[in-house]
Amino acid sequence: MTRKLNSLQKGLRVFLIILSAVSVLSLTVSAIAESSRNKKIQNDRDKIRKGFETILEQLEFNGLNDATIESVKKYRELVGDYSNLIVTDNAGKVLYNANNGFMPETDQFIVLINPDSLYPNDAYILDSKLNVRYKIILNRTYNGVKLVEYSKIYQDNQKLYDVIRYNEIFLSDTMDKNMHYAYIGSKGWNVYSIQKNISYSDYNYSNWHLAANSIGITAFVLFWLSLPIWVFLDAKRRNHMPALWGILTAVTNIVGLIIYILTRPENPTCKSCGELLNTKHIYCPYCGSENKQICHSCRTVLEKNWLACPNCGRKIEGERPETLLIVDGMDNNP
Ligand SMILES: [Zn+2]
Ligand SMILES: [Zn+2]
Repeated sequence: MTRKLNSLQKGLRVFLIILSAVSVLSLTVSAIAESSRNKKIQNDRDKIRKGFETILEQLEFNGLNDATIESVKKYRELVGDYSNLIVTDNAGKVLYNANNGFMPETDQFIVLINPDSLYPNDAYILDSKLNVRYKIILNRTYNGVKLVEYSKIYQDNQKLYDVIRYNEIFLSDTMDKNMHYAYIGSKGWNVYSIQKNISYSDYNYSNWHLAANSIGITAFVLFWLSLPIWVFLDAKRRNHMPALWGILTAVTNIVGLIIYILTRPENPTCKSCGELLNTKHIYCPYCGSENKQICHSCRTVLEKNWLACPNCGRKIEGERPETLLIVDGMDNNP
């Protein structure tokens, strides 16, 4: 039984080394892939922001001329087809609308900015024909806005304000149907760029990235689950509170392992086969070889530099355990 446990422990050790190597390697690969992906996303975001800023500059210096509309087209190529770009004056009148699907046609909008000073970051685009309200939350940190699409029936424009207030109180963000991202700029103009979540192919995780990630996590979980078993078996061999150390390692993993390795009793190993021995063992329980010198008359355990047995007086003549094994044909394993 002990021998079986020992080979199980040895197998486990190999398994644990492989698992930790696989886990570290896969997670490193995955982290590198993740960081290059983030870089790509950041690059795209920068491009989009630059494109938007170009539109703002064009509007400021040239007004809404052909060059501005050319910038708008370039910008929309960056953010993807499924996007809208709306230019209004400060009163909210729509001056230009590049529309692609999920927003109503030009002139059907009413854009309300800061309808309530309590919510200075909120703006609304409303379409009375479709009974749709788009709520925009301005994000000042990167000159962007988050658009939240609502559907809500309302009667006439006089009651719009009440509807907004009503929704503000009773609709939580969890009820939003879609999340869009947009930028807004204001220099006498209000420009709304609204699009569904941007999803370029670069944004997607590649298969090998996902594979490395799941292999790494799986190896880590297996490592976590197997480590306490190894500690339990090792502590059991040393007769050193195996259940306690097993549980401690199950909870704290590597921390528990390190504390265990540092504090476990250093048992002697067999000179012949290398197996771990109990301090009381005279003969190795695995290979039968003698690991302590004993007197061959009275079987007293002898210390290294003794010249005679203190019990029976028999002289010791530098006998080595291996020689003794052959001479006496040790068949009396404990
Ligand atoms: Zn041995
Ligand atoms: Zn003796």
